[in-house]
Amino acid sequence: MSGRVHGISPALRPFGESVFATVSRLAVQHGAVNLGQGFPDFDGPVEVKDAAKRAIDAGAGQYGRSIGLPELNRAIAARWASLGKFEVDPDTEVTATHGSTEGIAAAILGLVGPGDEVVLVEPFYDSYPACVALAGGTVRTVRLSAPDFRFPVDALARAVTPRTKMIVVNTPHNPTGRVFDRTELEAIARIARAADCLVLADEVYDEIWYGERPLSIATLPGMRERTVTLSSFGKTFSLTGWKVGWAVAPPNLSAGVRAAHQFLTFCGATPLHRAAADAFGAPASYYEGLRADYRARRDALIAALRGAGMAPFVPEGSYFVLAPHASFGFADDVAFCMHLVEKVGVAAIPCSAFHLAGTDGRRDAEAHSLVRFAFCKRLETIASAADRLRALRPVTTP
Ligand code: GLN
Repeated sequence: MSGRVHGISPALRPFGESVFATVSRLAVQHGAVNLGQGFPDFDGPVEVKDAAKRAIDAGAGQYGRSIGLPELNRAIAARWASLGKFEVDPDTEVTATHGSTEGIAAAILGLVGPGDEVVLVEPFYDSYPACVALAGGTVRTVRLSAPDFRFPVDALARAVTPRTKMIVVNTPHNPTGRVFDRTELEAIARIARAADCLVLADEVYDEIWYGERPLSIATLPGMRERTVTLSSFGKTFSLTGWKVGWAVAPPNLSAGVRAAHQFLTFCGATPLHRAAADAFGAPASYYEGLRADYRARRDALIAALRGAGMAPFVPEGSYFVLAPHASFGFADDVAFCMHLVEKVGVAAIPCSAFHLAGTDGRRDAEAHSLVRFAFCKRLETIASAADRLRALRPVTTP
């Protein structure tokens, strides 16, 4: 008998369970309204679901092409060009992934190696640092700070070194809701070009915005050749469980994404690719309706949080709102969110989960200062959260 202790690999040990799994479990356990994990509690378009059923009935039951069904890649390329970005070749520059979380993993595992540095912007989506660790790379961080969450361009310039392989730029940004403007993206692009490094542009909320359409950093001069842009069908068509995402990148970078993707999932779900390809034919009114509905949900949640004595930051894009919890007198964001889910009956995400822990496993006070609420929920769900949130009692004025 061996005396060895088996368990999670050393690279993944520091990350524990994803906060999304933890919070969704707590929401079920306490019967709370789940404004934690970002998934709609309403269904995607009926025509899109019908197209998937037809595809299943027609026998689309076997593996598809690893890089995505040809019609899906063509539809993604057509949408990309129709938004005025640039022409991309569907066969060499588009790769369909099993959701964008797989796209993140494929891009990082396929393009980053041991000794490479990757710059992440805190607060960040929790899978980024885990994927960098799996790739054997090292994370460096810069931080967005309340109240305006402007991109920390000077800090980025300082964080970039000759070993920097990739900068991860997420816009519209989860969880702050920032849509980085042209000045910010041009500054990031200048730094990336000067360092001759790659950019992983996570644009999964690219169709969910409330002011200007988000700018893709890949469209800036000298950026197309160094950028992998990720986006997601699940966010735009409210079908996150279909796990359909994609990466747009020049052939040499697509080769890296594909080299990893073929060994991660090989391919996505064939009938869902077929239905997703059709969905891209949606008229402009579909996308406008999506945004109008999200604006109404955003305003309802902002009003609910203000009604509870909170001072939320109004997002420019995405379906998340951040709010400080300091006025409620809890030790940190985790304690506040535990009170919220157990006693108030509303689940939210403690933003410290989107920050890197120090070598002592701790994070600083700013990292613990905010909570994230998702508003990809029916107005009735938001109203029910609003009722429950009235039980919150500020101990100081926000
Ligand atoms: N992207 C979603 C969020 O930020 C969750 C994705 C997931 O659960 N892994 O809430």
